Amino acid sequence: MIDFQTVLDTIHQEIGSRKEWGNVAAYIPELADIDNNKFGIHLIDFNRKNYSIGDSNESFSIQSISKVLTLAMALGLVGEDLWRRVDVEPSGDPFNHLSLLEQENGIPRNPLINAGALVVADVLVSRLKNPKEEFLAFIRKISNDPSIKYDEQVALSEKNTGFRNYAAANLLKSYGNLSNDVDVVLDFYFHQCSIAMNCAQLAKTFFLFINRGNCMQEQTYLNVNQAKRINALMLTCGFYDEAGEFAFEVGLPGKSGVGGGIVALLPNEFCVATWSPGLNKKGNSKLGMEALEKLTSDTDLSIF
Ligand code: GLU
Repeated sequence: MIDFQTVLDTIHQEIGSRKEWGNVAAYIPELADIDNNKFGIHLIDFNRKNYSIGDSNESFSIQSISKVLTLAMALGLVGEDLWRRVDVEPSGDPFNHLSLLEQENGIPRNPLINAGALVVADVLVSRLKNPKEEFLAFIRKISNDPSIKYDEQVALSEKNTGFRNYAAANLLKSYGNLSNDVDVVLDFYFHQCSIAMNCAQLAKTFFLFINRGNCMQEQTYLNVNQAKRINALMLTCGFYDEAGEFAFEVGLPGKSGVGGGIVALLPNEFCVATWSPGLNKKGNSKLGMEALEKLTSDTDLSIF
């Protein structure tokens, strides 16, 4: 039996003494103002035992990690039809690139880049009566945590600086791949990015991806195939244009966000969330990636 607490303690000791912590995202004040000298990890194993270290109870903006959760909700609602509007190939591009979208006639490469997430948001806006409320309720249910909230200030800053997201949404609309008003879809998207969680909440929220689509309370949200497909997308597309590097170094499906969070998982074994707001050049948490590389190397636990 692996003693995860000792593993996390060792990682914390080693990673915490690094000199290079990366740079926090600077495009909105709420992220730019965060102290980059933070580092937390929370791991939950398949038996629902919890292990944590460092700043694992401090809330941060989950940003693009939310794309996996909207995808899960949309796939649960519309099933395979979703893949007519968004592809499942890695883009090899940064999250907000637009050129491929034009070359490929408004079909985004995958649901974990911004254009793809906007299509997924459009599906939810079409299907749900009160999209923002119902999406938040979905997250609160799968995490079993009613305290999770949107951060309205972050959502507003996202809106005020979201020029490329406006461009992507308008491009999608011009290709007929957005059914609702651009502003309505973007308002939903900016809110999903603003969700705040700590590492413990994030690891618990993603438990359903290690448990064949069943959350911690054994309620089913995805079938086995849907959970498998989302995990495959996290592995191939979850880290912007560094997905190959993450698979190479860490060897787990996962998703990062520019708030410095990373969630990664091994089906039937564990789900782990890290937070360190300093990012590397590709926009992934620098120390989070290093910590996860050490976790899978030290425990010999990865999908490979
Ligand atoms: N709110 C960011 C954007 O859409 C998400 C950034 C991210 O975490 O990748 O530009």
